[in-house]
Amino acid sequence: MKKIICMIMIVTVFIGAMPLISYGDKYVDFIDVKIEQNKELNETVRLFSEYGFYIYEKDRKDRDVLDIIDTEIHILGNYADDIEIYSVDGLLITTIPGDGSVIIGSQDENNSIIKVDENRYRDYITFLINGNSVIIINHIYIENYLFGVLPREIPASSAADALKAQAIIARSYTHTTLNKHRSEGYDLCSTTHCQVYGGYEWEHPATNQAIIHTYGEYIAYDGQIINTPYHSNSGGHTESSEKVWGGKLPYLVGVQDKFSMNSPNSSWSIKLTPGELGSKLSTNGINIGDVKDLEIIETTSSKRVEKVKIIGTTGEEVITGEKLRSIIGANDLKSTLFSIDKEGSSNTKKVYVLDGSGQGPKEVGLSGMNIVDGNNKTTVSRNLSNRVRGNETTTDIEGALNVQARTFTFQGKGYGHGVGMSQYGAIEMAKLGYNYEEIIKHYYNSVEIINLGK
Ligand SMILES: [Zn+2]
Repeated sequence: MKKIICMIMIVTVFIGAMPLISYGDKYVDFIDVKIEQNKELNETVRLFSEYGFYIYEKDRKDRDVLDIIDTEIHILGNYADDIEIYSVDGLLITTIPGDGSVIIGSQDENNSIIKVDENRYRDYITFLINGNSVIIINHIYIENYLFGVLPREIPASSAADALKAQAIIARSYTHTTLNKHRSEGYDLCSTTHCQVYGGYEWEHPATNQAIIHTYGEYIAYDGQIINTPYHSNSGGHTESSEKVWGGKLPYLVGVQDKFSMNSPNSSWSIKLTPGELGSKLSTNGINIGDVKDLEIIETTSSKRVEKVKIIGTTGEEVITGEKLRSIIGANDLKSTLFSIDKEGSSNTKKVYVLDGSGQGPKEVGLSGMNIVDGNNKTTVSRNLSNRVRGNETTTDIEGALNVQARTFTFQGKGYGHGVGMSQYGAIEMAKLGYNYEEIIKHYYNSVEIINLGK
Protein backbone atom coordinates (compact mmCIF):
# COMPACT_ATOMS: atom_id res chain seq x y z
CA MET A 1 0.00 0.00 0.00
CA LYS A 2 2.85 2.30 0.93
CA LYS A 3 4.41 1.68 -2.47
CA ILE A 4 1.19 2.52 -4.30
CA ILE A 5 0.88 5.84 -2.48
CA CYS A 6 4.49 6.61 -3.29
CA MET A 7 3.93 5.88 -6.99
CA ILE A 8 0.84 8.09 -7.12
CA MET A 9 2.89 10.94 -5.67
CA ILE A 10 5.61 10.41 -8.26
CA VAL A 11 3.22 10.54 -11.17
CA THR A 12 1.42 13.59 -9.80
CA VAL A 13 4.68 15.46 -9.33
CA PHE A 14 5.75 14.71 -12.90
CA ILE A 15 2.51 15.57 -14.57
CA GLY A 16 2.55 18.84 -12.65
CA ALA A 17 5.85 19.95 -14.21
CA MET A 18 6.68 18.09 -17.39
CA PRO A 19 9.82 19.29 -19.10
CA LEU A 20 9.39 19.60 -22.84
CA ILE A 21 12.64 18.92 -24.59
CA SER A 22 13.24 19.99 -28.13
CA TYR A 23 13.95 17.11 -30.45
CA GLY A 24 14.47 18.31 -33.97
CA ASP A 25 11.52 20.61 -34.61
CA LYS A 26 9.14 19.02 -32.12
CA TYR A 27 8.84 18.71 -28.37
CA VAL A 28 8.89 15.33 -26.72
CA ASP A 29 7.43 14.18 -23.44
CA PHE A 30 6.03 10.75 -24.28
CA ILE A 31 7.93 8.16 -26.32
CA ASP A 32 7.06 4.88 -28.07
CA VAL A 33 9.08 1.90 -26.89
CA LYS A 34 8.81 -1.50 -28.52
CA ILE A 35 8.22 -4.13 -25.82
CA GLU A 36 7.69 -7.89 -25.76
CA GLN A 37 8.14 -10.23 -28.74
CA ASN A 38 6.21 -9.42 -31.89
CA LYS A 39 3.03 -11.47 -32.32
CA GLU A 40 1.56 -13.09 -35.41
CA LEU A 41 -1.79 -11.73 -36.61
CA ASN A 42 -3.68 -14.72 -35.18
CA GLU A 43 -1.92 -14.66 -31.79
CA THR A 44 -3.80 -13.17 -28.85
CA VAL A 45 -2.24 -10.52 -26.60
CA ARG A 46 -3.90 -10.36 -23.19
CA LEU A 47 -4.14 -6.99 -21.42
CA PHE A 48 -5.05 -6.62 -17.73
CA SER A 49 -5.89 -3.51 -15.73
CA GLU A 50 -7.24 -3.58 -12.19
CA TYR A 51 -9.40 -0.51 -12.93
CA GLY A 52 -10.62 -1.22 -16.47
CA PHE A 53 -9.42 0.56 -19.61
CA TYR A 54 -9.74 3.89 -21.41
CA ILE A 55 -9.11 4.21 -25.12
CA TYR A 56 -7.66 7.52 -26.36
CA GLU A 57 -6.45 9.11 -29.53
CA LYS A 58 -2.71 9.44 -29.05
CA ASP A 59 -2.74 13.16 -29.73
CA ARG A 60 -5.77 13.81 -27.50
CA LYS A 61 -4.94 12.15 -24.20
CA ASP A 62 -7.11 14.71 -22.42
CA ARG A 63 -10.31 12.90 -23.33
CA ASP A 64 -11.08 9.23 -23.74
CA VAL A 65 -13.05 7.98 -26.72
CA LEU A 66 -14.22 4.76 -25.09
CA ASP A 67 -14.17 3.22 -21.66
CA ILE A 68 -14.11 -0.51 -21.07
CA ILE A 69 -15.01 -1.76 -17.61
CA ASP A 70 -13.55 -5.24 -18.16
CA THR A 71 -10.30 -5.84 -16.27
CA GLU A 72 -9.02 -8.20 -18.97
CA ILE A 73 -9.25 -7.73 -22.74
CA HIS A 74 -7.87 -9.73 -25.65
CA ILE A 75 -6.16 -8.16 -28.66
CA LEU A 76 -5.86 -9.59 -32.17
CA GLY A 77 -4.46 -8.04 -35.34
CA ASN A 78 -6.32 -8.61 -38.62
CA TYR A 79 -5.43 -8.54 -42.33
CA ALA A 80 -7.13 -5.15 -42.76
CA ASP A 81 -4.34 -3.72 -40.56
CA ASP A 82 -6.73 -3.16 -37.67
CA ILE A 83 -6.56 -4.23 -34.05
CA GLU A 84 -9.63 -6.03 -32.73
CA ILE A 85 -10.38 -5.78 -29.01
CA TYR A 86 -12.39 -8.67 -27.48
CA SER A 87 -13.84 -9.41 -24.08
CA VAL A 88 -12.69 -12.57 -22.30
CA ASP A 89 -15.93 -14.19 -23.58
CA GLY A 90 -14.86 -13.55 -27.17
CA LEU A 91 -17.24 -10.65 -27.89
CA LEU A 92 -15.85 -7.94 -30.14
CA ILE A 93 -15.79 -4.70 -28.10
CA THR A 94 -14.25 -2.39 -30.69
CA THR A 95 -11.70 -2.10 -33.48
CA ILE A 96 -8.85 0.42 -33.52
CA PRO A 97 -6.34 1.21 -36.30
CA GLY A 98 -3.12 -0.79 -36.25
CA ASP A 99 -0.94 2.27 -36.81
CA GLY A 100 -0.39 3.30 -33.19
CA SER A 101 -2.62 6.37 -33.44
CA VAL A 102 -5.02 5.05 -30.79
CA ILE A 103 -3.74 4.06 -27.35
CA ILE A 104 -5.05 2.02 -24.45
CA GLY A 105 -4.68 3.26 -20.85
CA SER A 106 -5.94 2.23 -17.45
CA GLN A 107 -8.99 3.93 -15.92
CA ASP A 108 -6.75 4.78 -12.98
CA GLU A 109 -5.41 7.95 -14.58
CA ASN A 110 -3.04 8.79 -11.72
CA ASN A 111 -1.18 5.53 -11.86
CA SER A 112 -1.91 3.73 -15.10
CA ILE A 113 -0.43 0.23 -14.98
CA ILE A 114 -1.29 -2.28 -17.69
CA LYS A 115 -0.16 -5.88 -17.69
CA VAL A 116 0.69 -7.21 -21.15
CA ASP A 117 0.56 -11.00 -20.95
CA GLU A 118 3.03 -11.46 -18.04
CA ASN A 119 4.69 -8.05 -17.64
CA ARG A 120 3.37 -4.79 -16.26
CA TYR A 121 4.03 -1.38 -17.87
CA ARG A 122 3.17 2.20 -16.95
CA ASP A 123 1.03 4.58 -19.02
CA TYR A 124 -0.32 3.35 -22.38
CA ILE A 125 -0.12 0.39 -24.75
CA THR A 126 -0.62 0.53 -28.48
CA PHE A 127 -0.04 -1.73 -31.48
CA LEU A 128 1.52 -1.47 -34.92
CA ILE A 129 0.72 -3.96 -37.65
CA ASN A 130 3.63 -4.64 -39.97
CA GLY A 131 2.83 -7.33 -42.55
CA ASN A 132 1.87 -10.42 -40.55
CA SER A 133 3.38 -9.13 -37.29
CA VAL A 134 1.88 -7.17 -34.46
CA ILE A 135 4.44 -4.92 -32.74
CA ILE A 136 3.56 -4.10 -29.13
CA ILE A 137 4.38 -0.54 -28.09
CA ASN A 138 4.50 1.10 -24.67
CA HIS A 139 3.57 4.77 -25.14
CA ILE A 140 5.17 6.17 -22.01
CA TYR A 141 6.20 9.39 -20.28
CA ILE A 142 10.00 9.61 -20.54
CA GLU A 143 10.66 9.75 -16.78
CA ASN A 144 8.46 6.68 -16.27
CA TYR A 145 10.43 4.94 -19.04
CA LEU A 146 13.65 5.69 -17.17
CA PHE A 147 12.20 3.96 -14.08
CA GLY A 148 12.17 0.75 -16.13
CA VAL A 149 15.61 1.33 -17.67
CA LEU A 150 17.87 2.11 -14.72
CA PRO A 151 17.54 -1.18 -12.79
CA ARG A 152 18.24 -3.09 -16.03
CA GLU A 153 21.34 -1.04 -16.79
CA ILE A 154 23.02 -0.77 -13.34
CA PRO A 155 22.64 -2.78 -10.11
CA ALA A 156 20.00 -1.02 -7.99
CA SER A 157 22.14 -1.78 -4.92
CA SER A 158 24.87 0.62 -6.17
CA ALA A 159 25.76 3.72 -4.14
CA ALA A 160 23.22 6.54 -4.58
CA ASP A 161 25.47 8.93 -6.53
CA ALA A 162 26.35 6.25 -9.08
CA LEU A 163 22.61 5.75 -9.62
CA LYS A 164 22.07 9.51 -9.98
CA ALA A 165 24.90 9.77 -12.53
CA GLN A 166 23.39 6.85 -14.44
CA ALA A 167 19.93 8.49 -14.31
CA ILE A 168 21.18 11.74 -15.89
CA ILE A 169 23.20 9.82 -18.47
CA ALA A 170 20.27 7.55 -19.40
CA ARG A 171 18.00 10.62 -19.68
CA SER A 172 20.46 12.48 -21.93
CA TYR A 173 21.11 9.36 -23.99
CA THR A 174 17.36 8.81 -24.46
CA HIS A 175 16.80 12.35 -25.72
CA THR A 176 19.61 12.14 -28.24
CA THR A 177 18.82 8.69 -29.64
CA LEU A 178 15.08 9.01 -30.27
CA ASN A 179 15.46 8.59 -34.02
CA LYS A 180 16.90 5.07 -33.82
CA HIS A 181 13.70 3.28 -34.88
CA ARG A 182 11.80 6.14 -36.49
CA SER A 183 11.61 4.32 -39.82
CA GLU A 184 9.96 1.37 -38.08
CA GLY A 185 7.24 3.55 -36.55
CA TYR A 186 8.46 3.80 -32.94
CA ASP A 187 11.27 5.52 -31.01
CA LEU A 188 13.28 2.93 -29.09
CA CYS A 189 13.52 -0.82 -28.65
CA SER A 190 13.94 -2.39 -25.22
CA THR A 191 17.25 -4.22 -25.79
CA THR A 192 20.92 -3.24 -25.53
CA HIS A 193 20.61 -1.85 -29.06
CA CYS A 194 18.96 1.18 -27.43
CA GLN A 195 18.77 0.79 -23.64
CA VAL A 196 17.49 -2.27 -21.82
CA TYR A 197 13.95 -1.53 -20.58
CA GLY A 198 12.08 -3.90 -18.29
CA GLY A 199 8.90 -1.90 -17.58
CA TYR A 200 7.17 -1.54 -14.21
CA GLU A 201 8.07 -5.13 -13.35
CA TRP A 202 11.73 -4.20 -12.87
CA GLU A 203 11.37 -0.92 -11.01
CA HIS A 204 13.28 -0.54 -7.77
CA PRO A 205 12.80 2.17 -5.11
CA ALA A 206 16.53 3.09 -5.16
CA THR A 207 16.71 3.65 -8.93
CA ASN A 208 13.31 5.42 -8.95
CA GLN A 209 14.64 7.72 -6.24
CA ALA A 210 17.75 8.55 -8.31
CA ILE A 211 15.53 9.52 -11.27
CA ILE A 212 13.22 11.65 -9.11
CA HIS A 213 16.17 13.33 -7.40
CA THR A 214 17.77 14.32 -10.73
CA TYR A 215 14.49 15.28 -12.41
CA GLY A 216 15.09 17.67 -15.31
CA GLU A 217 18.90 17.28 -15.27
CA TYR A 218 20.78 16.63 -18.50
CA ILE A 219 24.40 16.57 -19.63
CA ALA A 220 25.25 19.38 -22.03
CA TYR A 221 28.27 20.54 -23.97
CA ASP A 222 28.29 24.03 -25.38
CA GLY A 223 24.65 24.44 -24.33
CA GLN A 224 23.37 21.35 -26.17
CA ILE A 225 22.20 18.07 -24.62
CA ILE A 226 24.70 15.44 -25.70
CA ASN A 227 24.63 11.78 -26.56
CA THR A 228 26.15 10.06 -23.54
CA PRO A 229 27.24 6.49 -24.32
CA TYR A 230 28.26 4.34 -21.37
CA HIS A 231 29.61 0.85 -20.79
CA SER A 232 30.11 -1.68 -18.02
CA ASN A 233 33.83 -1.46 -17.19
CA SER A 234 36.63 0.53 -18.86
CA GLY A 235 39.38 -1.83 -17.69
CA GLY A 236 41.48 1.15 -16.55
CA HIS A 237 41.24 3.60 -19.45
CA THR A 238 38.20 4.83 -21.36
CA GLU A 239 38.27 5.22 -25.14
CA SER A 240 37.76 8.20 -27.44
CA SER A 241 34.64 8.06 -29.60
CA GLU A 242 36.49 8.29 -32.92
CA LYS A 243 38.42 5.10 -32.17
CA VAL A 244 35.17 3.13 -31.84
CA TRP A 245 32.66 4.84 -34.10
CA GLY A 246 34.80 7.14 -36.21
CA GLY A 247 33.32 10.49 -35.09
CA LYS A 248 35.55 12.75 -33.00
CA LEU A 249 33.67 14.49 -30.18
CA PRO A 250 35.32 16.86 -27.68
CA TYR A 251 33.38 15.43 -24.72
CA LEU A 252 34.03 11.74 -25.52
CA VAL A 253 37.76 11.61 -24.95
CA GLY A 254 39.59 8.66 -23.36
CA VAL A 255 40.67 9.18 -19.73
CA GLN A 256 42.71 7.24 -17.18
CA ASP A 257 40.25 5.36 -15.00
CA LYS A 258 41.78 3.71 -11.97
CA PHE A 259 38.30 3.41 -10.44
CA SER A 260 37.47 0.53 -12.80
CA MET A 261 40.38 -1.67 -11.75
CA ASN A 262 38.87 -3.82 -8.99
CA SER A 263 35.39 -4.73 -10.06
CA PRO A 264 33.59 -7.37 -12.14
CA ASN A 265 35.32 -7.94 -15.50
CA SER A 266 38.30 -5.71 -14.65
CA SER A 267 40.22 -8.63 -16.10
CA TRP A 268 39.14 -11.77 -17.93
CA SER A 269 40.44 -14.34 -20.39
CA ILE A 270 39.06 -16.72 -23.00
CA LYS A 271 40.71 -19.54 -24.92
CA LEU A 272 40.00 -20.51 -28.51
CA THR A 273 41.55 -23.21 -30.68
CA PRO A 274 42.63 -22.41 -34.28
CA GLY A 275 39.67 -24.49 -35.51
CA GLU A 276 37.11 -22.65 -33.35
CA LEU A 277 38.46 -19.30 -34.44
CA GLY A 278 38.55 -20.37 -38.11
CA SER A 279 34.93 -21.48 -38.03
CA LYS A 280 33.75 -18.25 -36.36
CA LEU A 281 35.58 -16.25 -39.02
CA SER A 282 34.11 -18.36 -41.78
CA THR A 283 30.50 -17.86 -40.55
CA ASN A 284 31.28 -14.14 -40.86
CA GLY A 285 32.47 -14.46 -44.44
CA ILE A 286 36.23 -14.62 -43.76
CA ASN A 287 37.43 -17.89 -45.25
CA ILE A 288 41.12 -18.37 -44.48
CA GLY A 289 41.04 -21.91 -43.09
CA ASP A 290 42.21 -22.72 -39.57
CA VAL A 291 44.00 -19.88 -37.86
CA LYS A 292 47.79 -20.30 -37.74
CA ASP A 293 48.60 -17.02 -36.10
CA LEU A 294 47.15 -13.79 -34.79
CA GLU A 295 49.11 -10.58 -34.61
CA ILE A 296 48.05 -7.28 -33.04
CA ILE A 297 49.37 -4.71 -35.49
CA GLU A 298 47.85 -1.46 -34.17
CA THR A 299 46.57 -0.25 -30.80
CA THR A 300 44.98 3.01 -29.65
CA SER A 301 46.56 5.26 -27.01
CA SER A 302 44.41 3.48 -24.42
CA LYS A 303 45.93 0.18 -25.61
CA ARG A 304 42.75 -1.11 -27.22
CA VAL A 305 43.31 -3.26 -30.29
CA GLU A 306 42.64 -1.26 -33.45
CA LYS A 307 43.85 -3.75 -36.05
CA VAL A 308 44.68 -7.42 -35.92
CA LYS A 309 46.22 -9.59 -38.62
CA ILE A 310 44.90 -13.12 -38.87
CA ILE A 311 47.00 -15.68 -40.71
CA GLY A 312 45.11 -18.77 -41.76
CA THR A 313 46.05 -21.99 -43.51
CA THR A 314 44.59 -20.67 -46.79
CA GLY A 315 45.03 -16.89 -46.54
CA GLU A 316 45.29 -13.89 -44.29
CA GLU A 317 43.16 -10.91 -43.36
CA VAL A 318 43.51 -7.67 -41.39
CA ILE A 319 40.39 -6.65 -39.43
CA THR A 320 39.59 -4.14 -36.68
CA GLY A 321 39.53 -5.13 -33.02
CA GLU A 322 35.81 -4.22 -32.88
CA LYS A 323 35.12 -6.55 -35.82
CA LEU A 324 37.02 -9.39 -34.15
CA ARG A 325 34.96 -8.71 -31.01
CA SER A 326 31.70 -9.02 -32.90
CA ILE A 327 32.91 -12.19 -34.68
CA ILE A 328 34.00 -13.94 -31.46
CA GLY A 329 30.99 -12.57 -29.57
CA ALA A 330 30.88 -9.31 -27.59
CA ASN A 331 30.01 -11.18 -24.40
CA ASP A 332 33.01 -13.52 -24.78
CA LEU A 333 35.64 -11.11 -26.08
CA LYS A 334 34.36 -8.54 -23.60
CA SER A 335 36.39 -5.58 -24.87
CA THR A 336 39.12 -4.72 -27.37
CA LEU A 337 41.56 -4.09 -24.51
CA PHE A 338 43.32 -7.45 -24.81
CA SER A 339 46.61 -9.19 -25.52
CA ILE A 340 47.00 -12.62 -27.11
CA ASP A 341 48.99 -15.53 -25.70
CA LYS A 342 49.75 -18.21 -28.25
CA GLU A 343 50.41 -21.61 -26.75
CA GLY A 344 52.51 -23.76 -29.07
CA SER A 345 53.16 -20.95 -31.54
CA SER A 346 56.42 -19.38 -32.66
CA ASN A 347 56.08 -17.03 -29.71
CA THR A 348 56.71 -19.83 -27.25
CA LYS A 349 58.86 -22.14 -29.35
CA LYS A 350 62.53 -21.64 -28.48
CA VAL A 351 65.30 -21.91 -31.05
CA TYR A 352 68.99 -22.03 -30.12
CA VAL A 353 71.97 -21.43 -32.41
CA LEU A 354 75.70 -21.93 -32.24
CA ASP A 355 77.85 -19.21 -33.73
CA GLY A 356 80.85 -19.79 -36.00
CA SER A 357 83.32 -20.06 -33.11
CA GLY A 358 81.17 -22.75 -31.54
CA GLN A 359 80.02 -20.47 -28.71
CA GLY A 360 76.50 -20.86 -27.48
CA PRO A 361 73.95 -22.24 -27.69
CA LYS A 362 72.19 -18.89 -27.75
CA GLU A 363 68.40 -18.44 -27.78
CA VAL A 364 66.98 -16.52 -30.76
CA GLY A 365 63.47 -15.46 -31.69
CA LEU A 366 62.13 -16.74 -34.98
CA SER A 367 60.59 -13.42 -35.92
CA GLY A 368 62.92 -11.25 -37.99
CA MET A 369 65.78 -13.74 -37.86
CA ASN A 370 68.49 -13.53 -40.53
CA ILE A 371 70.35 -16.64 -41.54
CA VAL A 372 73.67 -16.53 -43.40
CA ASP A 373 74.68 -19.68 -45.22
CA GLY A 374 78.16 -20.86 -46.17
CA ASN A 375 78.25 -18.58 -49.24
CA ASN A 376 77.36 -15.51 -47.13
CA LYS A 377 73.91 -15.27 -48.70
CA THR A 378 71.42 -13.60 -46.38
CA THR A 379 67.83 -14.73 -46.02
CA VAL A 380 65.41 -12.41 -44.30
CA SER A 381 62.24 -13.72 -42.75
CA ARG A 382 59.24 -12.99 -44.91
CA ASN A 383 56.02 -12.24 -43.12
CA LEU A 384 55.87 -14.85 -40.39
CA SER A 385 57.50 -17.57 -42.45
CA ASN A 386 61.11 -17.89 -41.38
CA ARG A 387 63.22 -19.87 -43.79
CA VAL A 388 66.66 -21.40 -43.82
CA ARG A 389 68.20 -21.32 -47.27
CA GLY A 390 70.90 -23.84 -48.09
CA ASN A 391 72.90 -24.04 -51.34
CA GLU A 392 70.27 -26.15 -53.04
CA THR A 393 67.05 -26.07 -51.02
CA THR A 394 64.96 -23.78 -48.86
CA THR A 395 63.59 -24.94 -45.53
CA ASP A 396 60.61 -23.36 -43.82
CA ILE A 397 61.48 -23.28 -40.11
CA GLU A 398 57.89 -22.70 -39.11
CA GLY A 399 56.78 -25.81 -41.01
CA ALA A 400 59.76 -27.85 -39.82
CA LEU A 401 59.10 -26.99 -36.18
CA ASN A 402 55.32 -27.30 -36.47
CA VAL A 403 54.89 -24.03 -34.63
CA GLN A 404 51.20 -23.59 -35.37
CA ALA A 405 49.36 -22.44 -32.24
CA ARG A 406 47.29 -25.00 -30.34
CA THR A 407 45.30 -22.36 -28.44
CA PHE A 408 44.92 -18.61 -28.46
CA THR A 409 44.31 -17.09 -25.04
CA PHE A 410 42.89 -13.58 -25.05
CA GLN A 411 43.86 -11.80 -21.82
CA GLY A 412 41.57 -8.80 -21.52
CA LYS A 413 40.46 -5.93 -19.33
CA GLY A 414 37.06 -4.27 -19.01
CA TYR A 415 33.67 -4.93 -20.58
CA GLY A 416 32.06 -2.95 -23.39
CA HIS A 417 33.13 -0.36 -25.98
CA GLY A 418 34.91 1.77 -23.37
CA VAL A 419 33.40 5.13 -24.43
CA GLY A 420 31.90 7.51 -21.84
CA MET A 421 31.05 6.44 -18.30
CA SER A 422 32.33 3.15 -16.94
CA GLN A 423 29.49 1.96 -14.73
CA TYR A 424 31.67 -0.02 -12.35
CA GLY A 425 34.09 2.90 -12.21
CA ALA A 426 31.16 5.17 -11.29
CA ILE A 427 30.05 2.74 -8.59
CA GLU A 428 33.57 2.76 -7.12
CA MET A 429 33.78 6.58 -7.28
CA ALA A 430 30.44 6.89 -5.45
CA LYS A 431 31.68 4.47 -2.78
CA LEU A 432 34.75 6.66 -2.33
CA GLY A 433 32.54 9.71 -1.75
CA TYR A 434 32.53 11.44 -5.16
CA ASN A 435 29.17 13.03 -5.99
CA TYR A 436 27.27 12.46 -9.24
CA GLU A 437 28.49 15.68 -10.81
CA GLU A 438 32.13 14.72 -10.16
CA ILE A 439 31.50 11.26 -11.57
CA ILE A 440 29.93 12.66 -14.76
CA LYS A 441 32.73 15.22 -15.22
CA HIS A 442 35.37 12.52 -14.81
CA TYR A 443 33.95 10.51 -17.72
CA TYR A 444 32.66 13.28 -20.03
CA ASN A 445 35.15 16.02 -20.86
CA SER A 446 34.23 19.72 -20.35
CA VAL A 447 30.50 19.11 -19.89
CA GLU A 448 27.99 20.82 -17.64
CA ILE A 449 24.84 19.53 -15.99
CA ILE A 450 21.85 21.66 -16.95
CA ASN A 451 18.47 21.62 -15.29
CA LEU A 452 15.45 22.03 -17.53
CA GLY A 453 12.81 20.69 -15.23
CA LYS A 454 12.62 22.76 -12.07
ZN1 LIG B 1 16.98 -0.22 -30.55
